[in-house]
Amino acid sequence: ADLYHIREWGVGYFDISDSGDVVVTPLRNNKDISVNLPEIIAGIQARGYDMPVLLRIEDILDSQITHMHESFRTAIRTFDYKGEFKGVFPIKVNQQKQVIEAITNIGTQYHHGLEAGSKAELIAALSFLKDKEACLVCNGYKDREFIDLGLYACKMGYKCFFVLEMPSELDLILERSSALGIRPLIGVRFKLSTQAGGHWTESAGDRSIFGLSTSQIIEVIEKLKSLEMLDCLQLLHYHLGSQISNIRDIRASVQEACQVYAGLVKEGAAMGYFDLGGGLAVDYDGSHTNYMNSRNYSLEEYCADVIEAIMEILDVDKISHPNIITESGRATVAYYSILLFNIFDTNTFDPEPLPETLAQGTPEIVENIMEVLTSLNLRNIQECYNDALYYRDQARQMFKLGKISLRERSLVEKIFWNIIHAVGDNIKHLKFVPKDLTGIDIALCDTYYANFSVFQSLPDSWAIGHIFPVMPIHRLDEMPTRNAILADITCDCDGKIDRFIDRQGIRRALRLHKPRKDEDYILGVFLVGAYQETLGDLHNLLGDTNVVSIRVNPDGSYTFVREIEGDSVADVLSYVEYSPKRMTRRFRATAEEAVREDLISPQERRMIMTMYEEGLRGYPYFEK
Ligand code: PLP
Repeated sequence: ADLYHIREWGVGYFDISDSGDVVVTPLRNNKDISVNLPEIIAGIQARGYDMPVLLRIEDILDSQITHMHESFRTAIRTFDYKGEFKGVFPIKVNQQKQVIEAITNIGTQYHHGLEAGSKAELIAALSFLKDKEACLVCNGYKDREFIDLGLYACKMGYKCFFVLEMPSELDLILERSSALGIRPLIGVRFKLSTQAGGHWTESAGDRSIFGLSTSQIIEVIEKLKSLEMLDCLQLLHYHLGSQISNIRDIRASVQEACQVYAGLVKEGAAMGYFDLGGGLAVDYDGSHTNYMNSRNYSLEEYCADVIEAIMEILDVDKISHPNIITESGRATVAYYSILLFNIFDTNTFDPEPLPETLAQGTPEIVENIMEVLTSLNLRNIQECYNDALYYRDQARQMFKLGKISLRERSLVEKIFWNIIHAVGDNIKHLKFVPKDLTGIDIALCDTYYANFSVFQSLPDSWAIGHIFPVMPIHRLDEMPTRNAILADITCDCDGKIDRFIDRQGIRRALRLHKPRKDEDYILGVFLVGAYQETLGDLHNLLGDTNVVSIRVNPDGSYTFVREIEGDSVADVLSYVEYSPKRMTRRFRATAEEAVREDLISPQERRMIMTMYEEGLRGYPYFEK
């Protein structure tokens, strides 16, 4: 059985080989070109990169962009839609240079453009976007510098749209446009009243921070009309939010925004571009439902629904079909990155062996709790559970008052965990599990210590409880026998993953294999290409992980196309204003003092200093 549902969320990119390894098929339909993930990892390790590693598979990015354009093209042909599809990638979803470079390279054949939400993003966009047929959409708050750069981009032939987020932006755009003598391409962001459920959907609704209300849009029209500049108003933009799971919400938002589009055309604006923003969801749990980690539609349905909804509204008034822009970020890049890490230790709560008989003079409390264990059966589970809790708490109290010894308290705790295990085993045979006892298996599950930082590499998992698919990338021909949660290496109680995907909702523990001595047990967190890389932080001074990008060759081999070494300890310390050079100097002086005080020898000082300096150059993560 597909225990981890990889065939559902993997959408053809990820699967399991007969030998139990995760395989990657970057062209999805072409199963002949597949690579084995553990082999790639062996290659990464042979090149000297330690875990954790962020692996990017660039061909998956090609496939996603191609799939999106081909799906829109098919829908356009099917419905005889007269406009074109013009995708743009929102830089904020993954700003890494490699990503923008790869998207602009691959995207040229489809005129895939970029969306910039800040001055820095516009500057980055202009350094990569060469295709003048592609759109460059400027969202976000725009100051004079931002506007001047965008205007010159227009003069250079770029389709660079300024989308008004606030009414006041228009005056500055008009002032700079007249000062530089360049006519702007203007868009308006409409504040939708349609709202969808989920984490990332506050971008819509009356109280959303961004966008113009209908009366503010009318003011924009009036101003442009008075200046005879309605030909500059060419685009309507809205953004319902990210990860919109329900196709009905998408359709409803297109309908509402399309009525605004029609209104703008009737007011005399030139128009021609209808920009739906982002929102195309990723099916992280593979359930194909409108649950927030999923989506209840395919890309083909999304394209067809968008086109059909636009035509339904605009054809009534015989308004020309606009070019459709989407700013899909998550769906474009999520699949192409995998976070890989090893498990460096485990902690199990297996029952520990107990003495066959209790020694003479054992305190009564120990005898009492032992009695609970020996009398436990299917009929008295709840009662035994209550008694075990009572005696355990009483023993702790007695220990505080010095009435039982450390050894006696430890024996009580051991007996207690034996009882909990016996309760856990017994409730499997019950038809109805008492409320108190549900989730007892979670209390008994193992902790697997994982070599990565949630805060650095999966910030959405910590900040908003987002669930990504996690699974071992090998030994999948073997039944896993343990239930575990994952603790990261930050020693922060929030630094863990204890919610996993499941068809029935959420699973509180992950089925894992028992790690073998002398063999790395490696897990992958999949679908992490969107938002995670730049939202991550330096909690516990764990910096950027090593990053390796590969491309798969037509013969099924693969090439390492890029390698980026992760931060060293010195790098992360310098981010928080330390100077590694000065630190070394100071520590050298401290070590010299220790020599003077005869605590260490000069040879030991030399060895300690070498260790210190190597530590600064090293990887902040757990090294073997
Ligand atoms: N466009 C705008 C204006 C956004 O704010 C966002 C992100 O929320 C996006 C596009 C990308 O959305 P998604 O990643 O859901 O495609």
